[in-house]
Amino acid sequence: MVITEKTDRMYRNLRDYVVLDELGVELHLVKEGVVISEHSKSAEKFMHGIKVLMAKNYSDNLSEEVKKGLYQKASEGRTRDHHAELWQCAQDRLDGKPMTRPGARQFAFGGVLTCGLCGSAVTPEHHKGHAYYRCFRRCQGQGYVREERLATMLAEQLRPLKMSEAHARLVAEKLKVSPRDRR
Ligand SMILES: [Zn+2]
Repeated sequence: MVITEKTDRMYRNLRDYVVLDELGVELHLVKEGVVISEHSKSAEKFMHGIKVLMAKNYSDNLSEEVKKGLYQKASEGRTRDHHAELWQCAQDRLDGKPMTRPGARQFAFGGVLTCGLCGSAVTPEHHKGHAYYRCFRRCQGQGYVREERLATMLAEQLRPLKMSEAHARLVAEKLKVSPRDRR
């Protein structure tokens, strides 16, 4: 059994997460009031996986930002306007609003999420007029999450984090740029 304060205190790198997951260690996240074990529901494990990835993404992004010196550039008005637009885009996605831009891809979270358990892409598909997401490798069997539910789950997890502007920008950029457009 491992007891820790918060998710981001838990893992120095993703390998630790995989090792603990494979060992079936019971994990107590005190501040988050969460216990993760082999008996946890798949949705709880899924959200824990997302939090691990977000914590990693956050620290990766911070070191990137420092290297690029983007904090100085952020004082320029034009950059700030762009950030405000991206921030709004992220908020809209979190509020579950669909993309309205003409020609925008149909899935709000397509190409954005990675399975917290196996690391594969989480891919979207349409069923009877609704968008559903699942692990590409189906490591949780036939587990699908409807887009509206996914947006709610993400919003619930993101709100208490009080994202920094840099992190919000990163999330917004990932939501806005289609996988095809990425380098
Ligand atoms: Zn998976």
